[in-house]
Amino acid sequence: MTLAKAYAVSSPTAAFAPFQVERRAVGAHDVQIEIAFCGICHSDIHQVRDEWGGSKYPMVPGHEIVGRVTAVGAHVTKFQIGDLAGVGCMVDSCRTCPSCERQLEQFCQKGSAFTYNGTEMDRKTLTYGGYSDSVVVDEAFTLKVSPKLDLAAAAPLLCAGITTYSPLRRFKTKAGDKVGVVGLGGLGHMAVKIAAAMGAEVTMLSTSPSKEADARSLGAHHFGLTSDPATFKALAGSFDLIIDTISAPHDYNKYLGLLRLEGAMVLLGVPPEPTPVAAGSLIFGHKVLTGSLIGGIAETQEMLDFCAEHGIVSDIELIPVQQVDQAYERMLKNDVRYRFVLDMKTL
Ligand code: NAP
Ligand code: ZN
Ligand code: ZN
Repeated sequence: MTLAKAYAVSSPTAAFAPFQVERRAVGAHDVQIEIAFCGICHSDIHQVRDEWGGSKYPMVPGHEIVGRVTAVGAHVTKFQIGDLAGVGCMVDSCRTCPSCERQLEQFCQKGSAFTYNGTEMDRKTLTYGGYSDSVVVDEAFTLKVSPKLDLAAAAPLLCAGITTYSPLRRFKTKAGDKVGVVGLGGLGHMAVKIAAAMGAEVTMLSTSPSKEADARSLGAHHFGLTSDPATFKALAGSFDLIIDTISAPHDYNKYLGLLRLEGAMVLLGVPPEPTPVAAGSLIFGHKVLTGSLIGGIAETQEMLDFCAEHGIVSDIELIPVQQVDQAYERMLKNDVRYRFVLDMKTL
């Protein structure tokens, strides 16, 4: 067992404060990672503030983790000391259930071990995430990060990257497909970059007119202002796929009207309250409304390799860990361009 430095909250209303986490001794299949950087995902805010219910405290959030391997267990084959490594939203699963066998460990039927605000597979040991200087994770849930990528800017790939890559792949996005991305934040800007790299014709659908120039430089071909009702008329029936990343309640029906015949809309954002969907929004045009949760470990590695090949990383603002509370406030005011990343050497 080692003691790791961390930043934690003790309740849904508490500010962040320094905290110590016990990390287990490095087991035969484990790697120990010195965390260099950790991204701030909007899911961190939802969970810190207990917006989804059932949050466990003290909580050390963080599931966009990158760093260097500092120790490996006797049976580790994928990593050597000094290698770059990444950890995303999961640290373990049962590995034998039908979901795990299909490499969809996020849907493990015994319950995946999420990186924080969860438990290890023993259902007892609480998990603590990446707002910390080190972590010990089974190599099967540890990802290879290419040295070709800027390490701090690669951190958000571990959640924002895989969460947007996975549905684009599931719907077989290819050159010429018309993809709409709703909400230009951490997930949205990765969706734009990845969809554009797959050859799609990308339209950014945003409430923020000030983000148009950024959307275009990130790779969007078109921009639609969603506060203007004319946008919904002009773009009606035009998209093969819509990736919805909005973190707050909003009317899905309006966006379903933008799909072509048999087009699909994928929900990624997890607003705390439900929103009604009219049957007619789906019936007229055989529309598909679905969701997507992060991605399996093999697909996460595929995404990291795709990003290394295409030179894709996140656009980040690197901040000291002491500014995490301010970063949350800025994200809630829609003031992030486009991901905050914590510099762990400031811990
Ligand atoms: P973020 O950086 O805060 O971005 C959210 C974006 O949504 C904002 O930039 C804004 O874009 C738009 N938005 C925010 N409030 C809005 C409102 N009231 N009405 C309309 N648009 C609004 O958040 P993120 O880290 O990308 O996360 C987005 C959501 O995805 C969160 O709910 C998070 O929990 C969830 N998430 C899900 C998964 C999954 O596996 N499904 C994984 C990670 C995160 P514009 O300014 O362009 O309008
Ligand atoms: Zn996340
Ligand atoms: Zn399983």
